[in-house]
Amino acid sequence: MMEYRKLAEVYEKLEATPGRLEKTDIITGFLNETPKELLKIIPMLLMGRVFPLWSPVELGIGPGLLYDTISFVTGISKQDLKTTIGEMGDVGSAVEKLFEKKVQTTLFTEKLTVEKVYACFENIADASGKGAQGRKIKLLSNLLTSAAPLEAKYLVRTVLGELRVGVAEGIIRDAIANAYGIPPHIVERAYMLTNDFGKVAMTARVQGEDGLTELTMEIGTPVKPMLAQISPSIKDAIKDCGTAAFEIKYDGARIQIHRNCGDGSRGESAGGVRIFSRRLEDVTSALPDVVWMVNKAVKSSAIIEGEAVAIDPETRRPRAFQDILRRFRRKYDVLEMIEKIPFEIYIFDILYADGKSLIDETFENRRKTLEGVVEPIEKKIELAEQIVTDSVQAAEKFYSRALEKGHEGVMVKNLKAPYIPGARVGYMYKIKPVMETLDLVIIGALWGTGKRAGWLSSYILGARDAETGEFLPVGRVGSGVTEEQLEEFTNTLKPLVEFNSGGRVKLKPELVVEVAFQEIQKSPKYKSGFALRFPRVMKVREDKGPEDTDTVNRIEELYSSQYR
Ligand code: AMP
Repeated sequence: MMEYRKLAEVYEKLEATPGRLEKTDIITGFLNETPKELLKIIPMLLMGRVFPLWSPVELGIGPGLLYDTISFVTGISKQDLKTTIGEMGDVGSAVEKLFEKKVQTTLFTEKLTVEKVYACFENIADASGKGAQGRKIKLLSNLLTSAAPLEAKYLVRTVLGELRVGVAEGIIRDAIANAYGIPPHIVERAYMLTNDFGKVAMTARVQGEDGLTELTMEIGTPVKPMLAQISPSIKDAIKDCGTAAFEIKYDGARIQIHRNCGDGSRGESAGGVRIFSRRLEDVTSALPDVVWMVNKAVKSSAIIEGEAVAIDPETRRPRAFQDILRRFRRKYDVLEMIEKIPFEIYIFDILYADGKSLIDETFENRRKTLEGVVEPIEKKIELAEQIVTDSVQAAEKFYSRALEKGHEGVMVKNLKAPYIPGARVGYMYKIKPVMETLDLVIIGALWGTGKRAGWLSSYILGARDAETGEFLPVGRVGSGVTEEQLEEFTNTLKPLVEFNSGGRVKLKPELVVEVAFQEIQKSPKYKSGFALRFPRVMKVREDKGPEDTDTVNRIEELYSSQYR
């Protein structure tokens, strides 16, 4: 058992400590004191998450429901609550202050433990169907009623998904490495393969380095995808890779497919097939057509990756990206959507087959294995179209053909390279005709005036600080958003509003947009140190989460390369 107060005190210390090394030390010490049974969940809680990203389970409490609950527990009106949040800068600090003022007899009647809090979170997530909101409020109120001010501060921040203590994956990795005396790269690898720091910490503690080295991927648990770098031209890519594989860069959404040909004893659903989005969300239930294709075409137990593309059956052109995402999100009338927006799947990699990890194999070998594992079904599930060449001319011809067909460009793959989960290394390049764009998260907005009154009409863009997980402003977009989008953006952003202050709103960082710009400038005005000149929203990237956005480091790199 561990008192929740102890965890809250660690959060408080972390928040007050800006240095990365000091934060790592705090967590190292805390991990050493954590009872074994809690190691499964503590790393996640320290990063401000309750469930792994890839788990279909979620709390389902947005700012609105949370504020209702706080208002109910403290007896303060929602309006006053919002004013206090505005004054204090965040809901956690506001709740701490309100709890301090409250007559104490009604509050913290019972000592909270981490176990109790977590069980309550699980019950909140479990509440679904009719009356679910009411039940969620009740469970959360019970929890808050037992909380001391400091505990309440971090409970509400956790529920909101904004812990603000500046702990991202790198710090947890280093703390696990320090706590159990294991080299960080071994911890990193184990994490990329399992996506579960709880499991990694537990294995490190119980089985040490050998146990961690043996951890491997498992069918059913998604693996972080390897990412592509940008190459300015085919010539550059060939210079780097030599003879390389050129593949069509399909204009769709990435999926990771897990197929288990066993008897389902490992608990896989949907006939042994699971499909994860690029964010590693489980989207299996929205894609029964893909499950069908995979069952027919994939001959062994395997983890493969591909792109889901919505090709218009008449014109054979890929349809808008938003159409694809609409299908991913669909919870009802799924069959109708399959008819409206049929998918074609183009498979481009394999990570695991027949009980063996393939990520250390070369791309050349993985592709060969893939050809044996997938029996294509025309216009349903095929392998990515590919040529292998070192000729710039041949590659350029292939590139033009890809663009003529309406795809985004080409991918260039190093034939000798392994697969490195979660990494953006130079093993896979993308070449597209359009200029570089950045994926950024909207962290705030301004209420419009005049014709735009009532709409959130100008958006503050944030880039990720990879070390702390914080989102730092890099610019503001207003133009490039049509009237129709204005409405859509406002509706999407409103539930994310944390507080209003002087015509501005602070938003929970959730909505990711792909942004084009003319130039990057240094800027003392923004905390990131950089500002985008003339940013424009190209598209909403609902396939990406805030954790996938570009980092301040990446912006710095682009800044230094733009005048080269
Ligand atoms: P980007 O999202 O712009 O960073 O581009 C990389 C993405 O291109 C990958 O994550 C895939 O979703 C997508 N893609 C499309 N076709 C391929 C392909 N043949 N090989 C690898 N990735 C591809």
